[in-house]
Amino acid sequence: MQIITSTAHTHHMPPHEFYDGALIPPFESAERAHIIDRALQAAGYTATTPITTVPTAILHAIHDPAYLHYLATIYPRWCAAGGAPEAVLPSTLAVRWMHRYSPHPLAEPGYYAFDLSAPIVAHSWDAIIDSASMAYTAALQLQAGARHTYARCRPPGHHAGTDMCGGYCYVNNAAVAAQTLSQQGKVAILDIDIHHGNGTQQIFYGRGDVQFISIHGHPDECYPYFLGFADEQGQGAGLGTNHNYPLAFGCDDTQYLAVVDAALQQIRDFGAQTLVVSAGFDTFAGDPLGGFKLSRACYTAIGQRIRQLGLPVAIIQEGGYAIEALGDNVVALLDGVQGA
Ligand SMILES: [Zn+2]
Repeated sequence: MQIITSTAHTHHMPPHEFYDGALIPPFESAERAHIIDRALQAAGYTATTPITTVPTAILHAIHDPAYLHYLATIYPRWCAAGGAPEAVLPSTLAVRWMHRYSPHPLAEPGYYAFDLSAPIVAHSWDAIIDSASMAYTAALQLQAGARHTYARCRPPGHHAGTDMCGGYCYVNNAAVAAQTLSQQGKVAILDIDIHHGNGTQQIFYGRGDVQFISIHGHPDECYPYFLGFADEQGQGAGLGTNHNYPLAFGCDDTQYLAVVDAALQQIRDFGAQTLVVSAGFDTFAGDPLGGFKLSRACYTAIGQRIRQLGLPVAIIQEGGYAIEALGDNVVALLDGVQGA
């Protein structure tokens, strides 16, 4: 198992987020990464690989260049226009019938965000590009012959679409890995975060060479609410390559693993040559942003099933907010994939 970690994520430490009407400390914190890193080390998973910066061509294949420029440059422009220096966080969102672009630094954040949980601080971009580069490095490792690799990305990525941030996500790390690997053949993305990977779905919705499968809390009761239904199956060349498995809150190990088995069969049927896993751990029982009841042993069982596919696998860290348990849950999944 190749392991990729980094300390650059500490450039991104927003002071707050809006959550169900309250201004609170962010659930998505630097401490999450520290806890995972400590657990990896304690379990003998050592990071040795230098990180290769993701090429612009890969980023431009999955994101609007104007959106990336916005992410990289908005902070000083926001402050100069009178925005609060604590964080870029819009007050006005470009919604369904009001979505003309505005270059005003106080308006632009509302054009490029779908919620209020993706604040941008002074050096967020350094962390965002580092996180994407970790996913890119994971893909390079598979191309170089590695069978299994894990990128401890932070910030996460699966809610980020072609030109929109939200849900703690800015650049879609799993999409970076999948786009890179798609140059050699069909790629499957399995998203096991409890929240639907709305950004990943949107990026690849019209693509026939990248399959997206998401197992998540049903949008009727779970963020991001407005996407992730079972009837979203792709369009054009991508018709039939998008598969959503929305599950009711309260889902346990047995129910979950039955759906994992169905998803993995679809990956076999698709003929994927590599697999990218968007690995969220907010499915864990008691996660403050979750609603499922998975045990730690379930992550090992998921990992064992992924291993049995026999494909090269890049595991990309997404969510997980039961912080005390997060590191050991990551290790449990990696143990399963590695065959420990
Ligand atoms: Zn999540």
